[in-house]
Amino acid sequence: MSAQYEVYAIKYAHHERNASANFLGGDPHDGPMPLDYFVWLIRGQGREIVVDSGFNAAVAAKRGRRITRPVEEGLRLMRVDAAAVKDVVITHLHYDHVGNFDLFPRATFHLQDLEMQYATGRCMAVEAMRHAYELEDVVGMVRNVYAGRVRFHDGDAELAPGVSLHHVGGHTLGLQIVRVATRRGWVVLASDASHFYANMEQSRPFPIVYNVGDMVEGWRRAQSLADSPAHVIPGHDPLVMARYPAPAAPLQGAVVRLD
Ligand SMILES: [Zn+2]
Repeated sequence: MSAQYEVYAIKYAHHERNASANFLGGDPHDGPMPLDYFVWLIRGQGREIVVDSGFNAAVAAKRGRRITRPVEEGLRLMRVDAAAVKDVVITHLHYDHVGNFDLFPRATFHLQDLEMQYATGRCMAVEAMRHAYELEDVVGMVRNVYAGRVRFHDGDAELAPGVSLHHVGGHTLGLQIVRVATRRGWVVLASDASHFYANMEQSRPFPIVYNVGDMVEGWRRAQSLADSPAHVIPGHDPLVMARYPAPAAPLQGAVVRLD
């Protein structure tokens, strides 16, 4: 492994809810099980790659989520100028993973073919399937396609030496995860392939799901791409903030270093 990168989780929002909402079929020991919302930063080899772009204040208000620190501020804490970022990976088009297009005027967005197909296709005629999509985000991505700013991927793709994208599906038809070479080995940003450690560790699917079989296979895929199960980073688990250190004292509670 020659190229190595730093990887950071930047928390931008929080949502209180109970465990029964986080597992297909509910939870017999229901109790508080909140979600954190992140964007991720991959830095090294002269590159800055942002993974997911998060939601803004308007969407937070509409969805009843609490922004703890706007995405642009979190990136600024890491000395990243969002306006200068060239590559943004969009794991999938759900409202909490895409948006804030205005922050990234120079970026190319990396998306799976199947995710755009899904978000603009027949499934979206059904409220239950489109619920986690924001029409303006999907239309915004279509505008980026027409502006020549989307690079589509079909399955696995190398973004840079030591950074690759892998289609897993499951949660949505076109969900992709990101594998990164780091000083501690291969780290996998699983995004919503597993919202919480508990989903993949206890084999209990999250209830927003396009295909349960593919979701189960996605946990295995994420773990097989990583150096160990502990190298897989779930998409929404507050435990990520507890298990990893802040890169510096002033970033406590805002950013953790994953590599
Ligand atoms: Zn999500």
